[in-house]
Amino acid sequence: MKYPFPKVDLHFHLDGSIVPEVGWKIAQEPGVDLDVKTYEDYLKITTVPATGVEVDVFEYLAKFDNIVKLMQTREHLIEITYSTIKRACEEGLFYLEIRFAPQKHMEKGMTQKEAVEAVLEGIRQAAVDFPMIRVGLILCCMLSFDDNRAENEETVRLTEEYLGKGVVGVDLAGGEDSVPMENYDYLFTDYHKKGLPMTIHAGDNGKPTNVAMVIDWGANRVGHGKHCWYDKEVLQKVIDTKTPIEVCLTSNIHCKTEPSYEEHPAKKLLDAGVKVTLNTDNQSISNINLDFEYDRALERVGFTYNDLIQMNINSIEASFMPEEDKPMYIAELRKYFK
Ligand SMILES: [Zn+2]
Repeated sequence: MKYPFPKVDLHFHLDGSIVPEVGWKIAQEPGVDLDVKTYEDYLKITTVPATGVEVDVFEYLAKFDNIVKLMQTREHLIEITYSTIKRACEEGLFYLEIRFAPQKHMEKGMTQKEAVEAVLEGIRQAAVDFPMIRVGLILCCMLSFDDNRAENEETVRLTEEYLGKGVVGVDLAGGEDSVPMENYDYLFTDYHKKGLPMTIHAGDNGKPTNVAMVIDWGANRVGHGKHCWYDKEVLQKVIDTKTPIEVCLTSNIHCKTEPSYEEHPAKKLLDAGVKVTLNTDNQSISNINLDFEYDRALERVGFTYNDLIQMNINSIEASFMPEEDKPMYIAELRKYFK
């Protein structure tokens, strides 16, 4: 193992992190509506080319539309979830929060509830074979040009129903500022009062004030969030409220929401006192893993080895696992400070 310490990933999309060999196998099954003839074709429409970064955030998001075609039955969801956790375990993770949007899995008649049940079954099966990794599930609501209020409300309701039974929190994903974020406050402000753990995508390609807005909604963490660096007031709010941000370096480069690793503000944010965590976002779309991200963090972003340990500790503190379980994980990570 390249990095000797146990690792944490809090921002990990199930569809974007599908194991390519598993996706390709499913793509060849009868009844699956993905028109690809070869593995090379499959990779072309589900991943960013290794040599190029010529996509923007919306082209990047189009890759998901292809992958979710492979995730429309209970069996496929179980297999994809299981194999994804297996790979994460082999790569040395000891805690992982997987997220997915149940409303994207209804094309062949599954309900959102059935989709959630299927992913939880995949997590249960993986827990038997890979007990060294602990997994929580986050349910994503979606930003949409269409009216999906009913679907989003069902996602939040399911988060409530399954909280403590495998589900650990709720999210809002999709093309930030493709539709006004403020239209979605109805989803979160009420539920926050009930203590539903929340992480929300904001301040990625969108404006910094989105970060402040979702903190006001009650977000416990912010997905990406790094555009807070470009607004002093918002940055101060992130620091004062101790709101962790989920940084995903290569995803930001691929989506062109940051110009380069060297110019990414992640290290400056950590040094300014922000609870920065380091995550992968979409391992297979970006063709990366945490080791790859750590390499970039050390070699090009300016982080130190101890920063990596600290950011993993930040991740455990920011995670949606029960508070009483966190000290054990943090104590283990502390052993690796140099
Ligand atoms: Zn994301």
